[in-house]
Amino acid sequence: MKKKINQYLIGVSAFAIALTLIFTTCIFWRVELEQGMESLRETTRLLASLEGAGQPESLAAYVEAWEERGEGLRVTLIAQDGNVLYDSEADAAGMDNHADRPEVEEAIRSGTGEGMRYSSTIGASTIYCAMRMDSGSVLRTSMTTDGVLHAFLQLIPLAIVMIAVLVALASVLSMVLTRRFIAPIREMALDPLRKETPETYRELKPLMEMISSQQKEVLAAAGMRQEFTANVSHELKTPLTAISGYAELIETGIAPEKDVMRFAQEIHQNADRLLKLINDIIRLSELDMGAAEQDREERVDLHAIAKGCVESLQVNARNYDVTISENGECAQLTAYRQQMEELVYNLCDNAIRYNVKGGSVSVSVEPIHQGEAACVCLTVRDTGIGIPNEHLGRIFERFYRVDKSRSKQTGGTGLGLAIVKHIVAQAGGTIRIRSTVGKGTTITVLLPEERGSRLENGNGA
Ligand code: ADP
Repeated sequence: MKKKINQYLIGVSAFAIALTLIFTTCIFWRVELEQGMESLRETTRLLASLEGAGQPESLAAYVEAWEERGEGLRVTLIAQDGNVLYDSEADAAGMDNHADRPEVEEAIRSGTGEGMRYSSTIGASTIYCAMRMDSGSVLRTSMTTDGVLHAFLQLIPLAIVMIAVLVALASVLSMVLTRRFIAPIREMALDPLRKETPETYRELKPLMEMISSQQKEVLAAAGMRQEFTANVSHELKTPLTAISGYAELIETGIAPEKDVMRFAQEIHQNADRLLKLINDIIRLSELDMGAAEQDREERVDLHAIAKGCVESLQVNARNYDVTISENGECAQLTAYRQQMEELVYNLCDNAIRYNVKGGSVSVSVEPIHQGEAACVCLTVRDTGIGIPNEHLGRIFERFYRVDKSRSKQTGGTGLGLAIVKHIVAQAGGTIRIRSTVGKGTTITVLLPEERGSRLENGNGA
C-alpha cells in the first residue's frame, strides 16, 4: 500500500509540476513577447522621429552611436519597392527583396506592421515591428526570441530540484499516511474484544464497524461452540458411565442374580437417553447449518398436525396422570412438515412432563391476523409447575434446565426448547411465554402463513 500511495503522490506531484512549468513558460513567453514588442514599437517610433532616419547613412550613424540599443536589436531600412537599403546585422546589398515580408507589406499599406516568424537572415525566431516613414520607405526593428527560450531552459534545473524534493516528500508522506491509515485496523486486530471501534477516518468507520461486529460474532459463536462441546461431553458422560458401571457389574458376576434384570433395564434406559441426546444434537446442528430438509416446504395444516401429535401423546399423558386435549380450526401455512411436527411435539411433551398429577394440557391452533399479516397461532397451555420469572429468559438456551433432576428423570435432554426456538426463527415467527409458578405455563407461537414474511419479535425468541 505504501508503494502505491507513494507512486500516486509522485505521479500527481510530477503532473502538477509539469503543468505549472508549462503554464508558467507560456505566460512568461507571452509577457516577454509583449514586452519585446512594446520596446520594439518605442524604438521604431524613436528612430523614425530622428532627422534623416530615412537615409541609410544617417540611420547607420544613429544605430552605431546608440550604445544602449543592446544585443539583439536589428534595424532595417526598406525602400517602398521592397529593396533593402540598410541592415544593422547584414549586408543590405546581398539581401533579397523584402516587399513580401508581412510586416513590411502591412506597414506600406496601413502605416505600421508587426509580426513574428523565423528569420532566414538571422536564422532564428524573430519579432518584427515596421513603420512607414514620410519618405515612403519602411523602418523596421526586430529582435530574436531566443531570450525567452533561454529563460525556459534556465527553469529546468529548478524543476529537477523541485521534483527531487517532491519525491522525498511523497515517500515520507506516504509512509506517514499508510501508518495512520493502518493504525486503527491494526489496533482492532490486536484487540477484537474492545468495546468501541478505534478512532478512524469517517469513510473507514462503516467498514471498521462491520469488521468489528463480525469479529465479535465469530468470537461469540466460537465461545458458544466451545461451551456446547463441553456441555455435550458432560451430558454424554453421565449415561455412558452408568452403562459402563452396570455392564461391568454383570460382566464380573458381582451383581446378584436378582439384580441383573434391573441393571439391564438401567443400561437400556441410559442407552435410550444417549440416543435421544445424540438425535437432538444432530437435529440442532442440522438446523444450525440450515441443511436442506428432506422434504420440500409445502402447504400444511398445523391444526391437523397438532391433532395427530396430541393423539400420539395420549398414552404418555396418561402415564403422568395428565389429560391432553386439542381444539381449534384448520390453519394452513407454508412450512416444512417435519419441523412443524417437532415444534408441536416438543411443546406438548414439555407441558406433560412438567405438569402435576391430575393436571391438563390444552393445545389450540387457529388462523389469525396480525396487523396486515395472515398468521397461524399455536397455543400450548398447561396447569403444571410453572417456571420462575428469573429463568424465563434462559430456558431456550441449549442444555438450560430449571430443575435438572426432573428433566433427566422424565427423559429430557435440555435441547427441546432450543430446537423450538430455531424452528420458529427460521419460519420467521415469534414465541411468547407466560408462566406462573404452581399454576402453569402458556406458550404461544405465531407463524406467518406465507414463507418470506417476518413477524415482529415477541419475548422468548
Ligand atoms: P428438557 O429436555 O429439559 O425438557 P427443554 O429445552 O425442552 O429441555 O426445556 C428447558 C427447560 O425449561 C426444562 O428443563 C424445564 O425446566 C423448563 N420447561 C420447559 N417447558 C416447561 C413447561 N411447560 N413447564 C415448566 N417448565 C418448563
